[in-house]
Amino acid sequence: MQADIDRIIVSRDRIAARIREMADAVGEWYGNSEQGLIIVAILSGAIIFVADLIRRLPMKMKIGLITVSSYHGSRSRPAQIVYSSHVDVTGRDVLIVDDILDTGQTLRLVLAELARQGPASLRTCVLLRKPDKAPPDLKPDLVGFDVEDVFVVGYGLDYNGHYRNFPDIAVLKPGLCPTYRPMV
Ligand code: 5GP
Ligand code: MG
Repeated sequence: MQADIDRIIVSRDRIAARIREMADAVGEWYGNSEQGLIIVAILSGAIIFVADLIRRLPMKMKIGLITVSSYHGSRSRPAQIVYSSHVDVTGRDVLIVDDILDTGQTLRLVLAELARQGPASLRTCVLLRKPDKAPPDLKPDLVGFDVEDVFVVGYGLDYNGHYRNFPDIAVLKPGLCPTYRPMV
């Protein structure tokens, strides 16, 4: 796996330090919530991020999981929710957690679906954002890192299902870089 990596763009140490700050921010928002927080993680890319983030949260919380199929900007095949673990978010404080904000299709879809269910509050948190691509009208409440518009893998993000277990966020060697983008 290591042999396929061209360069690391966010190291595991920087990720860990930033997640501590992000958890503090989430703690300030929801620390006094009596019912506790509902975190909705978008599978599969957010798995490692959400696992690290929630272990730093001081308040009671539950987790919901959603899988979105995406065809990367294709208008004829819009993103779709293909799995939901059906946590009841009505009247609850909800924080959506995703790995990366690219075109924003995924986050918009999940935001609309959860808003429809009438949460008490709804915020969004992404580990990475590609500011050149992200639509200006879609601003996550919390962003870990802004990154250049390259295809990244590691720390939960895959190429063709691989590299999710690589501990840093990295770019693959030229030639291994995908034109293909993951389906979910
Ligand atoms: P969006 O719907 O914002 O265009 O894309 C969001 C989803 O596409 C992310 O949740 C992620 O699964 C995938 N994605 C976008 N950019 C990248 C990238 O650079 N690397 C990987 N591995 N996945 C990406
Ligand atoms: Mg994703």
